[in-house]
Amino acid sequence: MHVLITGGAGFIGSHLVDRHLTARDKVHVVDDLSTGFQSNVAAHLSNPHFRFTQADIVTWADLNEAVTWADRIYHLAAVVGVFRVLERPIDVLATNIAGCERLLRAVDHCGWRPEVLLASSSEVYGPRTDPCLREDMDLIIQPEAPPRWNYAISKLADEAFALSYARTKDIPVTVVRLFNTVGPRQTGRYGMVVPRFVSQAVAGEPLTVFGDGAQSRSFTDVRDTVQMLDQLAGCASTDGLIVNVGGNHEISINELAERAIERADSMSPVEHLPYEVAYGQEYVDISHRCPDLTRLHGLIEYLPQWTLDATLDDLIARVRHREGAS
Ligand code: UDP
Repeated sequence: MHVLITGGAGFIGSHLVDRHLTARDKVHVVDDLSTGFQSNVAAHLSNPHFRFTQADIVTWADLNEAVTWADRIYHLAAVVGVFRVLERPIDVLATNIAGCERLLRAVDHCGWRPEVLLASSSEVYGPRTDPCLREDMDLIIQPEAPPRWNYAISKLADEAFALSYARTKDIPVTVVRLFNTVGPRQTGRYGMVVPRFVSQAVAGEPLTVFGDGAQSRSFTDVRDTVQMLDQLAGCASTDGLIVNVGGNHEISINELAERAIERADSMSPVEHLPYEVAYGQEYVDISHRCPDLTRLHGLIEYLPQWTLDATLDDLIARVRHREGAS
């Protein structure tokens, strides 16, 4: 199979690269390296089945050719991460919406129908407070809130494009709403909590909990996520569907901090920071977020293999190994 991965040098994309190259597929990655790192795919650069292009999805001259070559496309290229979204509210909308539309238009014009998997996000559920979030729920938009919701708005626009291309142009698109995904190669630089807590715990520095820490998330290891994405992309009954992808073991951010300290056997204290200090501006956090996985489990049989403790242990060992090597 020929696989095109936009944003493939990012954290999730690079795990998809590993998976498809292991299956002896041919993989082409396009990434502008704005948040991804070439080092994430460096191990494959000499593999004749792998090709890497550094380019922006919005302007990439060879997009049409790459799309025509592909049997399957994972569209992950996007401006991501809370710090970046707050810093570049216009880029988030412009890049994420224009990039997705350009890609879908290229697929429409390429003369045949590769499978497309579009990465959306649990952020689209916005400030809903339901215990479990279901794909068919109405969504809440807060138009006057600060640019904090621009990522969600961009992903909603992408979803609408994808579903419209699926319905009117017969493009086999699956939209996945990814819940908090964690694991090797995720950077804490753009705000993601798990790599930040792991580095802080290993370094013996205070773990920076934003707000009161009562907010909760359910985390999934990226190595489980990519198995689910691969299976969903290959499943014909997902065409034109939105599917939640994640796990449903919720944990509060306070508990997560305690867990990281315990697993790292660290003496780090926990420090609570107000949102204004943490994000440099007013911020509406999501109090809890847990997916309803009924649709996912009706489509694929895969069950996640990684517990949060196993992921934390693995990340802690990797940080220690890296620090020992430097
Ligand atoms: N968070 C935190 N300390 C950090 C980074 C994040 O307490 O150093 C909090 C953040 O405010 C949010 C949760 O952890 O409540 C998850 O943040 P992340 O950015 O990883 O994911 P998202 O908010 O998109 O679910």
